[in-house]
Amino acid sequence: MITTVAFDADYTLVDLLPAVLAGLDAVSAETGVPVGVLRADASAHWAATPHLPAREIRIAAMRESLARYGHEAQLDEMVALFFDVRYANSRPYTGVVEMLAKLRSDFRLGYATNANSRSELCGLGGQFTFEIYALQNGVPKKPAAEFFHAVLAAAQAEPAEVVYVGDTYAHDVAGAAAVGLRTVWLNRGGDPVPGEVVPDAVVASLDELPALLSRWNAAQ
Ligand SMILES: [Mg+2]
Repeated sequence: MITTVAFDADYTLVDLLPAVLAGLDAVSAETGVPVGVLRADASAHWAATPHLPAREIRIAAMRESLARYGHEAQLDEMVALFFDVRYANSRPYTGVVEMLAKLRSDFRLGYATNANSRSELCGLGGQFTFEIYALQNGVPKKPAAEFFHAVLAAAQAEPAEVVYVGDTYAHDVAGAAAVGLRTVWLNRGGDPVPGEVVPDAVVASLDELPALLSRWNAAQ
């Protein structure tokens, strides 16, 4: 019997890309550093130091971009601008709040993220029974098993009672499955499963979740 549905945040519930691009556009407008440079440096830092806090990765990347153009002195100001604009533009994907409302009558809902999309800053405040933010309270980042143990502890549930839903296969499917949670891979692009761990379900849209979870519980 599934009692709990826990969600990844960025690119699953939170439509992050427009928010990040708005933030980078604002920094570019102030400094003249091209958005492409800001994005490329950010990608390189995310790839090189994925274990660091998301905010630190963003700041390190911005420091490098600004230094290329002689604007390093504006770092603190541009970091503040970036995050102001990023959060002002952070919102859930269309239909997410309605989907959560459908699930809430039957399931405990959780929000569990590696990064810094605080629910209340992304249009999702008050939606969840519990929230887990990696690198707080000693919780490591996904795909570490301890991240999912923190989800289970917050849910007060056994692994088989919890579904984890996310868009990043290595974190959200392989990581969660290793701890025994059920997994739903949000695969909007219709990509092939990229590894040996088979998700319990693959959905192209979160709108499929209420019916899927009802079927699973009816089959118990
Ligand atoms: Mg994600």
